[in-house]
Amino acid sequence: MSMPFRQTMRIAGYLLRRKLRGQHKFPLIVELEPLFACNLACAGCGKIQHPASVLKQRMPVQQALDAIDECGAPMVSIAGGEPLMHPQIDVLVAELIRRRKYVFLCTNALLIPKKLDKFRPSPYFAWAVHIDGLAERHDASVCKDGVFDEAVAAIRECKRRGFRVTTNTTFFSTDSPQTVIDVLNYLNDDLRVDQMMISPAYAYEKAPDQEHFLGVTETRELFRKAFGDGNRKRWRLNHSPLFLDFLEGKADFGCTAWGIPSYSLKGWQRPCYLMADGYATSYRELVESTDWDSYGRGRDPRCANCMAHCGYEPSAVFATMSSLRESIRAARGT
Ligand code: SF4
Ligand code: SF4
Repeated sequence: MSMPFRQTMRIAGYLLRRKLRGQHKFPLIVELEPLFACNLACAGCGKIQHPASVLKQRMPVQQALDAIDECGAPMVSIAGGEPLMHPQIDVLVAELIRRRKYVFLCTNALLIPKKLDKFRPSPYFAWAVHIDGLAERHDASVCKDGVFDEAVAAIRECKRRGFRVTTNTTFFSTDSPQTVIDVLNYLNDDLRVDQMMISPAYAYEKAPDQEHFLGVTETRELFRKAFGDGNRKRWRLNHSPLFLDFLEGKADFGCTAWGIPSYSLKGWQRPCYLMADGYATSYRELVESTDWDSYGRGRDPRCANCMAHCGYEPSAVFATMSSLRESIRAARGT
């Protein structure tokens, strides 16, 4: 992934150590979901449909730390739900940083003004703010007016206080190359966020809006056109060059969902953050008891249109590590 140099070297060292130990399946980043509740109800969300008894649960900090310690991943992406609704989110973040984990706190930003004083800037910490488009598109995506403006104000305040701020943008079939260009130009050039993550929306079975998910061909065409005119090179995208090649159809990989596993209130989700075929009690059990060969495009119909980073970014990173040429190319991006 294109990331700060020190972080890149730490991750490269981690990957090398795991390889030298002969480990074939290990986590790169954990999607940690310490709660499912959210203060928004986006139409494309597949996380907030749990019963009220589950939505009111909050994961104890020690349980989250034990899971991260057990799997050993160097990076943690805290998602949900809305993680800032967790009453001890600041304690969890501080403990992860103390363990020298790189933490991305994924948020819709609405609670940042209320919670910001509880956090301190750190090279191990970045906000990852959900922004699906410019004002009208974003507010339509999150089904509430005014959220874009609040998120932009929160980003500006985080940057003013010296925090590293990244964004996470999901694209749907209602997007065009121009809407992709518009939002990424804005985030890159006007708001000047540190880095941007992009993703085609995954067709969650439980999402209320089932009509606007992209197919593989549409995704490739969307990104190929949006990346033209030097945009891809100019934008500070938080992805490896091979993953960007994958998005625009210049490379293809198998799914390696064990590289970005998901740990939630229910346990280690099988096989990935997007699908739930049961849960394991440890990362080791997840790796050893999952039939990984039965997942991925062409293997499971639910994976048919998936080009999500949780399945394919690890594949791109591992392919990068196996090639000197690709390693040099990725290093040039940091
Ligand atoms: S902000 Fe995120 S977690 Fe909350 S409803 Fe929207 S997509 Fe789901
Ligand atoms: S292709 Fe991989 S990441 Fe995507 S839904 Fe299937 S198992 Fe999950």
